[in-house]
Amino acid sequence: MHYDLIIRNGTVVDGSGMPRFRADVGIAGGKIAAIGKIRDGATEVIDADGHVVSPGIIDAHTHMDAQVFWDPLGTCSCWHGITSVVMGNCGFSLAPCAEKDKLLVMRNLERAEDIAPEAMEAGIRWAWETFPQYLDAVERTPKGINYTAYMGHSALRTYVMGERAFEREATADDLDAMKRELRAAIRAGAIGFTTSRTRNHQTPDGQPVASRLANWNEVRQLVGVMGEEGAGVFEIAGEDTGLAPDRIRDYLGRLKALAVDSGVPVTYGMFSSRKAPDYWRPFFTLADETAAAGGRMFIQVHSRSLNVVLSFETTMPFDKLPVWRDIRKLPLAEQEAALRNPEIRRKLVEAVNNEPREEGRGIGAEPRRANFKWLFVMDKASPPHRSVAEIAEELDKDPVEVIIDLALEKHLKQFFLQPLANENQDHVLEMMRHPRSVVTFSDSGAHVSQIMDSSLQSHLLSYWVRDKQALTLEQAIRMLTFVPASYWGLSGRGLLREGWAADVIVFDPDKIAPMMPHLDHDLPAGARRLKQKAAGLMATVVNGEVVLRNNEHTGALPGQLLRGPLARR
Ligand SMILES: [Zn+2]
Repeated sequence: MHYDLIIRNGTVVDGSGMPRFRADVGIAGGKIAAIGKIRDGATEVIDADGHVVSPGIIDAHTHMDAQVFWDPLGTCSCWHGITSVVMGNCGFSLAPCAEKDKLLVMRNLERAEDIAPEAMEAGIRWAWETFPQYLDAVERTPKGINYTAYMGHSALRTYVMGERAFEREATADDLDAMKRELRAAIRAGAIGFTTSRTRNHQTPDGQPVASRLANWNEVRQLVGVMGEEGAGVFEIAGEDTGLAPDRIRDYLGRLKALAVDSGVPVTYGMFSSRKAPDYWRPFFTLADETAAAGGRMFIQVHSRSLNVVLSFETTMPFDKLPVWRDIRKLPLAEQEAALRNPEIRRKLVEAVNNEPREEGRGIGAEPRRANFKWLFVMDKASPPHRSVAEIAEELDKDPVEVIIDLALEKHLKQFFLQPLANENQDHVLEMMRHPRSVVTFSDSGAHVSQIMDSSLQSHLLSYWVRDKQALTLEQAIRMLTFVPASYWGLSGRGLLREGWAADVIVFDPDKIAPMMPHLDHDLPAGARRLKQKAAGLMATVVNGEVVLRNNEHTGALPGQLLRGPLARR
């Protein structure tokens, strides 16, 4: 047999969690054709000696719904070994929506997910109204990696209710219309349905996004449609229960009943928080209890602290203070000059020090007022990082002076990290190890100038496997491949097996790691975003074709739209 591609001499970590072994991997017709000692030839050969050969990584929590139309590679995810993404999370999809109403849908996305409307305006050719038409548009678009899409509640509600979606509960007619659209979407291959009930999701004018106006009955009825169809996953950005036990119990009770009554798998993200260290635990117990009662539930977890990435190039925690606001409006070079002016500098430091010390509330991934113990200097890509407070104490300097000096040393390109959640790494590990969790949640495609979490998967491999040795490579690869493929029903992906899709990565286990991020203005209309690559990736193969070699695009665009089960039958 002649293969299209043979990856020779690598160490196979096949995604199942089973121990590694040395083998060649032969690929033909987009599928894995053989694993073992291969004597035949191939059109293309990769020598993977000293490297690991594993399934491509699946990231089930992205917001690439808009980006897919201007960035077929799915950066920055593709640079970390991701070969398939799920988009449309948290209630935000771009369909159903007619072109004339697109500003309404963008309003849901703009502040909640930090995607510049001018980038969406310039980068999307709006060629759909219904969700099935959106799927067709994604299918037609050339793609480097695979995409699968949920229908989002905010879009659905806005489509059916117009401006009323932002103001009130649905009528019986509204609900019928929503159910009709959702059913059509699931039948056409939507992977599921998503909603948000969190106050972190606001429009630019401070109003709740549309899905937050829904009562629980609306949610139940919509999820019920997927139950009737026997397909689809339900993802929810959860309610802000606060810490009152009865409110937590009420919410958990409704989630469990929803999963058990509908038969639909329910999933949500969960983080630990230093302000409420054990808040997350009942959400994990709930998944076990739901399973015992006959439902399905799984929890999306992150592999490190959820950090806002701050810099003078993007946002600093002091930007809203009047003295700072005037300086921060200037071009970066003029800001640098101002910071070197002792008089201006004194005023800036004073302004921060006259602020109340406690952290303010922010929305989503917007920066909070600085607590210097919880503001870290990102002098390298991977932790540990030192806090501003620690450095200030050591140098006997004012923390604000420390920040300004460090920033000036790098011509204002110094990044600082402000963790919003998951500060306790023991909790992070415990959550990742929970049998009903799945490591995902990059939010790739969203929060593009605020966070840089497309690297959470490469961080798992560099930090938890190599540095901490808290997980074996086999365990970690399974967490990133077979587990998400199974939960989201991406059949034929997530394992290296003969006959399965040839989504494969080849990487150096001693070198794989996130690299330092940087700011770029390469979005449509010149909008800004943070970018980050990983070191150590030799090849990324999607559907049998090498898309990235040493993390550089080869020009191949073999990615596919992955439709849900009803569209595959
Ligand atoms: Zn999200």
